[in-house]
Amino acid sequence: MTATKTSNLTQPQRVKGFRNPEASKEGISPLSEKYWYQRYSLFSKYDQGIQMDEEGWFSVTPEEIAIRHAERCAGHEVVIDSFSGVAGNAIQFARKGCHVIAIDIDPAKVALAMNNAKVYGVEEYIDFVVGDFFTLAPPLKGDIVFLSPPWGGPSYKDIQTFTLDLLKPIDGYTLFQVAQAITPNIIMFLPRNINLEQVPELSWLSSPPLELEVELNYVQNHLKGVTLYFGSTVATSPRFSSEYKVFPYEVS
Ligand code: ADP
Repeated sequence: MTATKTSNLTQPQRVKGFRNPEASKEGISPLSEKYWYQRYSLFSKYDQGIQMDEEGWFSVTPEEIAIRHAERCAGHEVVIDSFSGVAGNAIQFARKGCHVIAIDIDPAKVALAMNNAKVYGVEEYIDFVVGDFFTLAPPLKGDIVFLSPPWGGPSYKDIQTFTLDLLKPIDGYTLFQVAQAITPNIIMFLPRNINLEQVPELSWLSSPPLELEVELNYVQNHLKGVTLYFGSTVATSPRFSSEYKVFPYEVS
């Protein structure tokens, strides 16, 4: 008997060069189509009226990961989502009962975010703000700052080791310090190829150093990103100190 390789029937398969008629009808560009195939892992309620734009497709956090992030808001009231995009994270924080201040510099993104929050019935828990996080940050009060800063588009994958200085629009250290002025309870979602050796340097920006937990985020066995939890967002168990920690990880 010969073994045959079967395709995963639960996942729609993409054929190179072939445009999915359904995606074309929805106005999905060829560039975004590969993300469109993952639409239900980005938003499980996709069919109920979720709206995206080109950037939104590749920058939204997969829902399963956003739910994990949101689990850490238990016991906290206000979450500031600093680069909220199409609201993949803001929605999940709100579903956990937190009040969210969702900031994005692009008014079109905020309009999509408001629509998407309505699809999930959580719009009342979110204050949508159009603006530059760095300008808005100084007077802001919040219990958690969530940072999912621009990774520089899909080309981040071409870099072997993504260093903190590559984050946009400003390096990761400066960004972290801006967030830290609001609260030490920070959740930071970073590319899967982030330089893990650099990561503890963020907690060393405080004295004493902030507690840090590093989580590798897989969806269907694919590493999608790395989450850093600081301060009171660190899980009670396991609890890692801010000391250097190496994780075996591979980029698929
Ligand atoms: P990526 O490079 O990961 O694809 P994007 O360029 O899509 O990220 O940026 C993520 C989100 O952050 C976008 O919705 C963008 O409008 C928003 N954004 C970028 N700069 C700022 C800023 N200074 N303040 C608030 N939101 C911002």
